[in-house]
Amino acid sequence: MSAPSRDFGSPGNRDVVLEPSVFYVCQRCTKCCKWPGDVRIGEDEIAPIAAFLGLTESEFIGRFTRLRSNRQGLSLIEKDNHECVMLDGDVCRIHPVKPEQCAGFPNKWNFPGWRRVCEAIPVPLE
Ligand code: SF4
Ligand code: SF4
Repeated sequence: MSAPSRDFGSPGNRDVVLEPSVFYVCQRCTKCCKWPGDVRIGEDEIAPIAAFLGLTESEFIGRFTRLRSNRQGLSLIEKDNHECVMLDGDVCRIHPVKPEQCAGFPNKWNFPGWRRVCEAIPVPLE
């Protein structure tokens, strides 16, 4: 299974294919935590994540974020192997307050070919 290219995995992607009659249930395979690229942090997501980690907002920003590739906002940093800095084994350290980008994939945004790289199981909605 090939990894997506560097410009995959963005909520800003215009080629999203959403299926209103299906909900994809995440299997926590963590593949989407290992793709290269930005993990966007919204302005309103900084405080809850910092608080969850027991850090001040400044500490959180300084230790765990960088400018996004388009320099318009913050992203979580990644490890040398491209895993998200918040991935600890197969667990997200900030799962209860994880960014909307993470919580929204693949049901609220996705990209062409996403089914090839995500193990989420489709469940028909009533
Ligand atoms: S959304 Fe898909 S790729 Fe991400 S952890 Fe869940 S099943 Fe895996
Ligand atoms: S914040 Fe959590 S869910 Fe989002 S990419 Fe990082 S480890 Fe994965």
